[in-house]
Amino acid sequence: MANEAKKEQYKIHSTDVMKKIMGEYFLSLETGKKKIAWCTSVGPAELLRSFGFEVYFPENHGALLGATRTAMDYIPEAIKCGYSGHVCSYTTADIGSYLKKETPLQKHYGMKGAPKPDIIAYNTNQCREVEDWFTYFADEFKCPIVGIQPPRHLDEITQDEIDLVVKQFKKMIPVCEQVSGNKFDLDKFKEVVKLSKEATLLWQKVLKTSTAMNAPLSFFDGTIHMGPIVVLRGTQVAKDYYTGLLKELEENVKNNIGFLPQAKVRIFWEGMPIWGKLRMFSDLFNANNAAVVASTYCSSWVFDKFDENNPWESTAKAYTEIFINRSEKAKMKMLAEWFKEFQIDGVVFHDSKTCFNNSNAKFGMPQRLQEMTGVPGLIIEGDLCDLRFFSEGQSITKIETFLEQLEENKVLS
Ligand code: SF4
Repeated sequence: MANEAKKEQYKIHSTDVMKKIMGEYFLSLETGKKKIAWCTSVGPAELLRSFGFEVYFPENHGALLGATRTAMDYIPEAIKCGYSGHVCSYTTADIGSYLKKETPLQKHYGMKGAPKPDIIAYNTNQCREVEDWFTYFADEFKCPIVGIQPPRHLDEITQDEIDLVVKQFKKMIPVCEQVSGNKFDLDKFKEVVKLSKEATLLWQKVLKTSTAMNAPLSFFDGTIHMGPIVVLRGTQVAKDYYTGLLKELEENVKNNIGFLPQAKVRIFWEGMPIWGKLRMFSDLFNANNAAVVASTYCSSWVFDKFDENNPWESTAKAYTEIFINRSEKAKMKMLAEWFKEFQIDGVVFHDSKTCFNNSNAKFGMPQRLQEMTGVPGLIIEGDLCDLRFFSEGQSITKIETFLEQLEENKVLS
């Protein structure tokens, strides 16, 4: 209880600003002033924005369906249409929500529903599921769909891969010109890439504030504060938001204010969030004096290669070299660096039932990673949206036992 009380006292004040700008973003999708492009969360948003599209991200909607625990009401609708209940629950929940004509966007933001797309763009750098998902909607709305299909699971990204992806990016131009009614403008594209770069570097700094021993931002806070870097990157609004958030968190570090000052162990979260259980997990780790300070998930929107002076190649590289799109060797190297930087004592792998692509615990990587880094790992089973694949009691027992062992190891070492 004492821990809960301390957690209550810690507040990130920028949260109010974030709620406001997210609300304004959603309402801007319904004004009819701009044409709408749907885009994958790690997709070519900068190029779309340069044509003047307002960009909507169905994965963000999937996360909302998970966080509001409405996903389970909608997944059966998609199953009735022939989708397996074992494929990406963002996909099935989103399709089901569309079929039922219901969405939390109505209740939370006063919207009529998800905005109708004029064009749909995807990038399979994260998974092929997005192609199936987005193609369903392109057929429904009878709108053009464009896709980037980069090489996957690479150790290194070479010039050959970058050239290939640049070609695919450029193939989008005529379709975007036709739908938007605007000619491609290189200067505009550069301007959007610059804004995106500035926001993403601020987001990276925000995440790194939790390298402090009294960390000011937990993984669970990060899943909330990442909203603008997902849906508003490439805008001044996102840049301003992360400027303010960074200032607040740096101030907290300077004043030794963190979300769990009494933390005994520092944890890394690997894999997707379990959206419907964020609060439960946050309370559980805090109550056990374990600070979850970093994750692969929140780091997925750090695109530090963006360069407005080389917009095509830099965006192609940044979007192809993301963690989820890499080989196990490259992933282990990235994880080992994060463990060192954030002084991690243990890692929790979320083995997500319906997201094969963002689960790294199925082929023995936790064991190999422990041998490589000395950082012990725990695997918990669950899902991003579909809580039928998650056992709360079993997970709590596993996590509490794991944390006890970590603490004992620390005392003994
Ligand atoms: S990465 Fe996973 S959760 Fe995200 S769209 Fe692909 S399958 Fe779904």
